[in-house]
Amino acid sequence: MSNAIFPLAAPVNEPVRSYAPGSPEKKSLKKRLDEMLAEEIEIPILIGGKEVRTGDTAKAVCPHDHRHVLATYHQAGAAEVEAAAKAAKAAWREWSEAAWEDRAAVLLRAADLLAGPWRDTVNGATMLNQSKTVFQAEIDSACELIDFYRFNPYFMRHLYTDQPWSAPGVWNRVEYRSLEGFVFAVSPFNFTSIGGNLPTAPALMGNTVLWKPASTAVYSNYFIMKLLQAAGLPDGVVNFLPGKASKVGDPVLAHPDLAGIHFTGSTPVFQSMWKTIGDNIAQYRSYPRIVGETGGKNFVFAHPSADVESYVTALARGSFEYQGQKCSAGSRAYVPKSLWPRVKELLVEQVSSLDMGSPLDFRNFMAAVIDEPSFNRIMGYIDHAKSSSEAEILTGGKGDKSAGYFISPTVVVTTDPRFKLMREEIFGPVLTVYVYDDGDLEQTLELVDTTSPYALTGAIFAEDRKVIAHLTAALRHAAGNFYVNDKPTGAVVGQQPFGGARASGTNDKAGSMANLLRWTSQRAIKESFVPPKSYAYPHMGEE
Ligand code: NAD
Repeated sequence: MSNAIFPLAAPVNEPVRSYAPGSPEKKSLKKRLDEMLAEEIEIPILIGGKEVRTGDTAKAVCPHDHRHVLATYHQAGAAEVEAAAKAAKAAWREWSEAAWEDRAAVLLRAADLLAGPWRDTVNGATMLNQSKTVFQAEIDSACELIDFYRFNPYFMRHLYTDQPWSAPGVWNRVEYRSLEGFVFAVSPFNFTSIGGNLPTAPALMGNTVLWKPASTAVYSNYFIMKLLQAAGLPDGVVNFLPGKASKVGDPVLAHPDLAGIHFTGSTPVFQSMWKTIGDNIAQYRSYPRIVGETGGKNFVFAHPSADVESYVTALARGSFEYQGQKCSAGSRAYVPKSLWPRVKELLVEQVSSLDMGSPLDFRNFMAAVIDEPSFNRIMGYIDHAKSSSEAEILTGGKGDKSAGYFISPTVVVTTDPRFKLMREEIFGPVLTVYVYDDGDLEQTLELVDTTSPYALTGAIFAEDRKVIAHLTAALRHAAGNFYVNDKPTGAVVGQQPFGGARASGTNDKAGSMANLLRWTSQRAIKESFVPPKSYAYPHMGEE
């Protein structure tokens, strides 16, 4: 093993490419998209680096053109979970004892591959499989994932330098061991970067991992798995297990070697996993670390002093980009009566002008929602608003699932601040507005704080500095990511550590030192240089 203490330069965020007309990146991506559309691939399960085919298959399709099949993928069950747990165990000793530089180098290399030769493939796969516009794919599957892979090694090294004090004659050290057992990474459909981060953050810290991707994102996530292999990730460190949720989840959660779960997804799923872990607690070798980032019902609040143009732009971008399917998306707005006529006019004008269609047409601002169950659920909320006497649809409200799962960007205004659409996560292109009396500021702040069980993101708009300070204090616990005069989405690794509290998750801040710490188990080592040779203390020498 090497005996030098190696530096690691501070990373910078990956620049976002524009894909403007005539740009070389647009030409190259379009070519790759054509190639990907022309083929249908087969996706195996990957266990210990080996391809496994169960014959129990499902299809990966384009949400904006659901007859187009991108891939057939094999689904794992109890036997594959058991094989993956064995592979993870076999890889564990060597990987958990590997030098930190060797673990870091895998991710740093993956970052450079993704920034270069893999960029088009991973962006293309995200556009096709999750129906993201080119910009939404670029900031997710390229830039955010590259940032995770560059910042996490830097944070790891920094974490390792955090050491205890030593008294004279003693040398104290702390080592950051991996957990004993495997970590279960369970990722959502909506960010390829989260798929790429959930298994690799624990792996970076020396853990071995079973990774279950979301069924609607298997295609793009498979390319991430292949990228990690290309970057030199040893076999068995991350095992790729697409499959039906409970067929994979149940045997994993019952396994005695489960040492942690790294989850991002909906609140009910996370709560049910936590409950199962509680029921099984006596059969695990150690107490599993439970890290989960979950749902949101994010507010965008305007004070009477707010700048209307910036506020409306934040609502349009923050609520409708990626069809509102970001955990951070704005979904409830609070507008003072004095500003409402102007906000309403601009909002309807902007939202009704948002172009929707295939992400292959770069002019579109929005594409399709992820699948039919999501389409039906979102339309159910819109129908509820249509049939309620307490709500009115200002724009949008239409859905068409004949060719792709398209729902027009929808703005609802309600007279009931605790209306269903103000409380529940919809996870689609629906924004609900409540108009408050300018004189009711304190009561409205109370509503913002207490209307939903979530506390993920939130934004306030105000020009008056004293007001900004007051709102920031009043809403202290209402969001884990709080924005002043900015939209509630678009957190950047290293700049706004991301995560929410209350029902929104354990707030272990993805892409930060706090998150990496969760995947370690510290060992404190005390070494005495001249140990005492007698048990007697001075006070025992009484004359
Ligand atoms: P989901 O909860 O439906 O699925 C998430 C993952 O859990 C998928 O891989 C799914 O297959 C798996 N899963 C479901 N049941 C399981 C079980 N019993 N055992 C094991 N695995 C199981 O969520 P989704 O629809 O993929 O993503 C949308 C949700 O994710 C929204 O609620 C959104 O707010 C949330 N989200 C949160 C964040 C955040 O950082 N807070 C980020 C992205 C998404």
